[in-house]
Amino acid sequence: MSVSDSTALPITIQSVTKTYGDMRALDNVSIRVERGEFLTLLGPSGSGKTTLLMVLAGFTRPDCGSLLFGDEEVIRKPPHLRNVGMVFQSYALFPHMSVAGNIGYPLKLRKVPRDETTQRVEQALTTVQLQGFGDRRIHELSGGQRQRVALARAIVFEPRILLMDEPLSALDKKLRDRMQIELRELHEKLGMTTVYVTHDQREALTMSDRIAVINHGAVMQLADPATLYNAPANHFVADFIGDSSIIGLTQENGQLMHAGNTVRHQSVMPDSTTVSMMVRPERIRVTNDPGPDENILDATVVNVVYQGDTYLLQTALADGTEVKVRGMVSGDTLKQLPRAGTQIKLAIKAEDTLLIAGDEAVRH
Ligand code: ADP
Ligand code: MG
Repeated sequence: MSVSDSTALPITIQSVTKTYGDMRALDNVSIRVERGEFLTLLGPSGSGKTTLLMVLAGFTRPDCGSLLFGDEEVIRKPPHLRNVGMVFQSYALFPHMSVAGNIGYPLKLRKVPRDETTQRVEQALTTVQLQGFGDRRIHELSGGQRQRVALARAIVFEPRILLMDEPLSALDKKLRDRMQIELRELHEKLGMTTVYVTHDQREALTMSDRIAVINHGAVMQLADPATLYNAPANHFVADFIGDSSIIGLTQENGQLMHAGNTVRHQSVMPDSTTVSMMVRPERIRVTNDPGPDENILDATVVNVVYQGDTYLLQTALADGTEVKVRGMVSGDTLKQLPRAGTQIKLAIKAEDTLLIAGDEAVRH
């Protein structure tokens, strides 16, 4: 079972807005999902992810905007005519039906003949690695198996588009990690255009071709995982993806300064009156011997956290800004770690110093 390139469709979401009372659940959202792409909507709870997925599936009609599947405007099309497969957080399986009954249900709705249904259900079971489970009842299955049944039901009619809303959130961590890889492999095999929703940034980074970071119903940044991590467009994305410290800067005579020192950096000046620098904890070096193109910050160690293979230093700058430093634990590092209360110097290379727009440029 596979969706050929000609049947997987690109999705064009244009200026979609949806309000509930005076609350904007979606605020002028425009996203283009490429043919066969795995795109993730990532954002905190209440940011509008499910609302956008419901607009794609046809269960929610937005106030305004347009939605194209390929070249076709579908905004007025009812859900059952959109040919979209959907997996919900709760699986939404029918408890009184067998596994095969659940998976075959979309085919029954489409009046597919019984022989063909049997064959396609078998195929879908194989795809999700549940061969031989057709006669089981839903309550006889584990969480991960139920999740796969939901997935099989979503793909059995070979939809051109697959939508998934936090499908792994009910699973424990180990199973979730495995299913992330499985879903990704399945996507590569079937090739359908996929929009995936999660609030888990690590899951999004693991699975996605590209990620749209959503906050308050608006797209904060749309980029591939490496770009989001290494070049977040604003404070919100920097904060939401990965671990980072954000240090406020001042400007004097066109120079960026921190605590009396000129800041060395290699990024573009953000279009904002206030500018901060962002650093990842693993890019900071504790040293008395900084290199010529490094920024130096004086800090006080607040806390030392041993985390097995790595350590985390929580430090504070003179102005109170918290800066986290992460390093690998190896050989003598443990003995050499500074204690709480010690004054240390943090060195950050110019290339690891990322400028971002200051706080007031971003709505929280
Ligand atoms: P997410 O999936 O990112 O957690 P949702 O899309 O479910 O967020 O919700 C976005 C916002 O819209 C929330 O503030 C939510 O309370 C509100 N909302 C969603 N559906 C409705 C509805 N049917 N009626 C009123 N408010 C809604
Ligand atoms: Mg949701």
